[in-house]
Amino acid sequence: MTLQPETFKSLVRVAAERVIASAAELTALDQAIGDGDHGTNMKRGFEAVLTKLDTIAEQPLSDAFKTIGKTLVMTVGGASGPLYGSFFLAAGDALSHKSLPEDLAEVFGSGVNAVSARGRSQAGEKTMLDVLVPVLETLKADAGRADLIERVRTTASEAVARTAPRQATRGRASFLGARSVGHIDPGARSSCLLLDAVCSTLEGRQ
Ligand code: ADP
Ligand code: MG
Repeated sequence: MTLQPETFKSLVRVAAERVIASAAELTALDQAIGDGDHGTNMKRGFEAVLTKLDTIAEQPLSDAFKTIGKTLVMTVGGASGPLYGSFFLAAGDALSHKSLPEDLAEVFGSGVNAVSARGRSQAGEKTMLDVLVPVLETLKADAGRADLIERVRTTASEAVARTAPRQATRGRASFLGARSVGHIDPGARSSCLLLDAVCSTLEGRQ
């Protein structure tokens, strides 16, 4: 089994469109515990990805991930741009010697490690890693299960909800101290939206 180029192209398109359509929601979340730019940051970045979609889809998977990463680094801005960019650049690097879908957990893990290294952060600090790390654990634990996609989707949405009671210790929200408690982290939500769009698209193709 290999990831077909047409499938990859629709995964990127649907994920980008989902984030773009959710810009207002992401901005509202960032207004509560940040500076209110996460929605516009992500929209700008994923619109740039969509303009390069034909080129991306023609590249070998490793290069395609790196193009997405470079585009996000150049266009998203804020803290999240370099972090999402690092994820795709590192996953692209891993794909030079790994394949999808067989090595999904390793490839995703390379991306997660890069976010952690770049952000000097780990799960539990009320950031996108609060979604990415549990999803990686699900990918490792449930690889090969028929309901893996459903499990990833559930893991991601439950992980977003768990960011609300946490106090932020990384990123802009950490400046609020205890006042960051009670709000969902915007980057955790955008990670969930991206993963959810990928899961929906893959389910539609099964
Ligand atoms: P900025 O905080 O610079 O305005 P964004 O609003 O676009 O950037 O992104 C904010 C999101 O980035 C946060 O909700 C959080 O999920 C993520 N984030 C910020 N700092 C870190 C970090 N050090 N490690 C991991 N994720 C982080
Ligand atoms: Mg912000």
